[in-house]
Amino acid sequence: MQLKPLAFSLLLSVFSLTPVPETLAAENIEPALNADEIELSQWLDSQEDNMVEMIERITNINSGSLNKAGVNAMADIFSRELRQLGFSVSTLPGDFIEMPSCPGSNYNIDVADHVLASRAGSGTRLLLMGHLDTVFPSDSPFQTFRREGDMMYGPGVSDMKGGLVVMLYALKALNEFGFLQDKAITLLLNSDEEIGSLSSRKYLEQQALLHDYGLVYEPGSSLIRQRKGLGQARFVVRGKASHAGAAHEQGRSAIKELAYKIVEIERMTDYESGVTVNVGIINGGEARNTISPCAEALIDLRYPEPQQGLDAIAQFEDIFASVYSYAVDSGELTTESWTNLHRPAKIPTPESDYLLEKTLSISKLLGQSIGVGDSGGGTDGSLTQAVGLPTLDSLGGSGSGTHSNREQGQISSLVERAKLSAVLIHRLAVE
Ligand SMILES: [Zn+2]
Repeated sequence: MQLKPLAFSLLLSVFSLTPVPETLAAENIEPALNADEIELSQWLDSQEDNMVEMIERITNINSGSLNKAGVNAMADIFSRELRQLGFSVSTLPGDFIEMPSCPGSNYNIDVADHVLASRAGSGTRLLLMGHLDTVFPSDSPFQTFRREGDMMYGPGVSDMKGGLVVMLYALKALNEFGFLQDKAITLLLNSDEEIGSLSSRKYLEQQALLHDYGLVYEPGSSLIRQRKGLGQARFVVRGKASHAGAAHEQGRSAIKELAYKIVEIERMTDYESGVTVNVGIINGGEARNTISPCAEALIDLRYPEPQQGLDAIAQFEDIFASVYSYAVDSGELTTESWTNLHRPAKIPTPESDYLLEKTLSISKLLGQSIGVGDSGGGTDGSLTQAVGLPTLDSLGGSGSGTHSNREQGQISSLVERAKLSAVLIHRLAVE
């Protein structure tokens, strides 16, 4: 693998979200498309209907992160397809992750197995990443695929069933012309990306160390250069139940304490430094006339710099350890918590900028106009880049409304992005 660090990388500040350098892909660093690549591109032009048929089929399978049967059905489809392309396919065991919870609620996470597929080869080692799960649970009202002209609608059409099909068809194109021979390509398809890759993180990090470049098939109208880090925290406040009329003073309200803690936690948001905190879910109480014995919350954290993530977790811990709601701490209010910085901030490196610039140059050769942006959202690419694998994100199709029942994707972008990936993989794998 030969790296070509770019001059502009010297200008980058390492720890803050920096504007995209204007020099990025100002000049085309890539040679023109050769006859093989034109063939790849033409073959993919003929595949739009097949790609849409596959997206329709897999969008109609609910694969919410906690729907193990649905995620497994997705894993079976992709395992079969990849075996047909000559990959050896195995599964990596999921995990059972216990979470603190109030009685009657269950936030434990039972993660389905992940798929690892690989082809042996002698060139540059590529790790392709995608997730089989979506954010839509099996009882979501948003379950089916619908097409209108060049747009498609449905759970995961963009994030990222569309991306998985882009990845698969890029590989199918390469295979069609024998270009997968002797190429060292690994795919890791995980089942828990939408809940923070809590089980698959270790596998992603292990694989990152065994490869030269990482490609992630999240959706994106632009290629994403830099991302904020993500964290999450769950906490459960336990108090003392009592009759709200007959013995109010004997109770210790977990809901009251939770409310005070939430105010403290929400105060941590600081748009100037880029740190944001969101209490996304709360739950608690037993009855209108019972002082609540238990209440719980789930918090989302975003941060541009690694240290800010660590500082925020320390602040959470202080808030969890304090009692705000009663003048005298009787020891009857306790808090149990779980915190996790599940996505490091994605900081560009000269190697990841090289990969980005190469991809932008190829997109121009293909007559495409793809931009570059930054994002407050994290992906598995943040995990692999953090352990040293230069990783390019957002190679899936373009779309919008992800994580909502307005999710949509642009059909023509699927073939475009598959062409981009096919040529990119073709060129990277022989460096
Ligand atoms: Zn996604």
